[in-house]
Amino acid sequence: PFDVLVVGGGPAGASAAIYAARKGIRTGIVAERFGGQIMDTMGIENFISVTYTEGPKLAASLEEHVKEYNVDVMNLQRAKRLEKKDLIEIELENGAVLKGKTVILSTGARWRNVGVPGEAEFKNKGVAYCPHCDGPLFAGKRVAVIGGGNSGIEAAIDLAGIVKHVTVLEFAAELKADSVLQERLYSLPNVTVIKNAQTKEITGTDKVNGISYMDRETETVHHVELEGVFVQIGLVPNTDWLGDEIERTRMGEIVVDKHGATTIPGVFAAGDCTNSPYKQIIISMGSGATAALGAFDYLIRN
Ligand code: FAD
Repeated sequence: PFDVLVVGGGPAGASAAIYAARKGIRTGIVAERFGGQIMDTMGIENFISVTYTEGPKLAASLEEHVKEYNVDVMNLQRAKRLEKKDLIEIELENGAVLKGKTVILSTGARWRNVGVPGEAEFKNKGVAYCPHCDGPLFAGKRVAVIGGGNSGIEAAIDLAGIVKHVTVLEFAAELKADSVLQERLYSLPNVTVIKNAQTKEITGTDKVNGISYMDRETETVHHVELEGVFVQIGLVPNTDWLGDEIERTRMGEIVVDKHGATTIPGVFAAGDCTNSPYKQIIISMGSGATAALGAFDYLIRN
């Protein structure tokens, strides 16, 4: 069996595998797609000490770093079941069963899409999902935020300090965000909130030039000219394949303690699939290191 078996090959999993392997213990990493979300990312400007890089380049460096160590890398393999027996078993989609004395779950998350014409076409050409990452790219420009929940309103407040104007589009009749956030939002001069707005299309030529929405009360379609659209309708953790023994939040995020431990002894978790409040590359890598050290601590005590 593996001493540490990592499931997920994004920044969190790569970091966990390197930290584990550096302890000289038997380490494996299984990933559906090595690199994870950064494979879909263009410019990265907040990976501290690297002023600018691009997702696929960072993913290649992660892989190169992992391969410096004696890590068994199993790419293009999807885990479908976890079971704790004497050892922890991970069953793959192809039927193989891997065993670990400890397991680190780092299966990440995915942004929920609005699924309207233009969204996929203009991804990274005006359509964005992460205000911390891409907000500064829209300095002085006009943007929309789709979604009036906490993350949408936090994004709108954040963006209002950087961009020229923010239009918030909320599908329901009321914003769902906490009232303190709503008060802060309504105090800002450069924000417009449109409720009962169903996004119909993100328009553009080579990049975004506007957004069309239907007023659900009057059933009329309106168009707003702008340069960017932030989709903020939820981040879905890739944890639906796990059973009930592992505690998760209402959102499906794996609950971890300060050592990265979950409610199953020997099973640790890191990165965007956990209840970490902020989802970023540098944070995922830090929590991957924490989970690996937590797993090592567990191994020497059991
Ligand atoms: P992920 O990167 O999601 O990796 C998850 C890994 O698990 C992948 O290898 C995946 O294939 C694998 N996996 C999933 N399910 C299974 C399964 N069942 N079996 C096996 N493997 C599985 N952050 C920044 O800090 N700066 C930025 O500029 C930035 N820009 C971003 C731009 C975009 C478009 C997106 C989508 C995200 C951006 N982020 C940015 C966020 C950042 O990419 C994530 O916080 C980070 O990738 C999370 O790392 P992770 O390892 O936890 O998860």
